[in-house]
Amino acid sequence: MEQKDLDTGEKPTWCAGCGNFVLTAALKQALAELDVAPEKVAIVSGIGCGSKLPHFVRTYGFEGLHGRTLPVATGIKLANKELTVIAVSGDGDAYGIGGNHFVHACRKNVDMTYIVQNNSVYGLTKGQYSPTSPKGFVSSTSPSGSIEQPVNPMSWAITAGATYVARGWFMDLDQLKRLIIDAISHHGFSLIDVLMPCLTYNRAYSVQWYKERIYKLYGHNASDRAAAVEKAMEQDKLPTGLFYQEKREAYGDEIPSVRGPLYKQDISNIDVAPAMKKMQ
Ligand code: SF4
Ligand code: MG
Repeated sequence: MEQKDLDTGEKPTWCAGCGNFVLTAALKQALAELDVAPEKVAIVSGIGCGSKLPHFVRTYGFEGLHGRTLPVATGIKLANKELTVIAVSGDGDAYGIGGNHFVHACRKNVDMTYIVQNNSVYGLTKGQYSPTSPKGFVSSTSPSGSIEQPVNPMSWAITAGATYVARGWFMDLDQLKRLIIDAISHHGFSLIDVLMPCLTYNRAYSVQWYKERIYKLYGHNASDRAAAVEKAMEQDKLPTGLFYQEKREAYGDEIPSVRGPLYKQDISNIDVAPAMKKMQ
């Protein structure tokens, strides 16, 4: 399979230079390299500029409600464990509106890959400060500067119980593709927080701003949770790569009834009549 085999023919309306173009290419390249049949992949998103991504990748896709990406993705995975489930959200959808779902998906270790398009602003709704906007960030909803402390998605995910936690950045397509391949291959909840600029609404975090801070993790032991949190807490620099990985049973592994796809289960010996009667 090649990247072009996953094209849908639809053209994104993202602003020129938006990081989502590179992310979409990296995702298609990763799926092509993994050679997963498109009908075995479900991409789930919420609301936001980046949440339009399922329109542009020829797999199953579901664009849901704002902040509700993970419950839908969890339901899909539990109903059909044969599917590779990839959830995609912006920083507002993932860490703000869907923040509660995020913590619990990490804790439950639901077997899916969560790619967060983190540009530290709500782009689609025209530039409100988001949960990852820095303190003092001037936006349409914080004209005198945000008074809120931003969340740290990496330390949040590690301490909440995610079993694969990585950070990518849109200008390194090869690293991004590799992280997506590894995250999909990982059994459990994988987060890839992808740093990208929003050239239209976040002038504070320009490409140059990122370039001055980003470096690749090197010699870091990703099985060391405390070291991973320490890396996540770095203030002035932004390390990219794999922060943390551990092997743990994924959500539902120990329940025989959801081990395989529901549609393949033999229900011929189940008497549904009493339940139907109750509902009459
Ligand atoms: Fe991308 Fe920002 Fe434009 Fe949305 S507003 S398409 S996030 S650059
Ligand atoms: Mg955003």
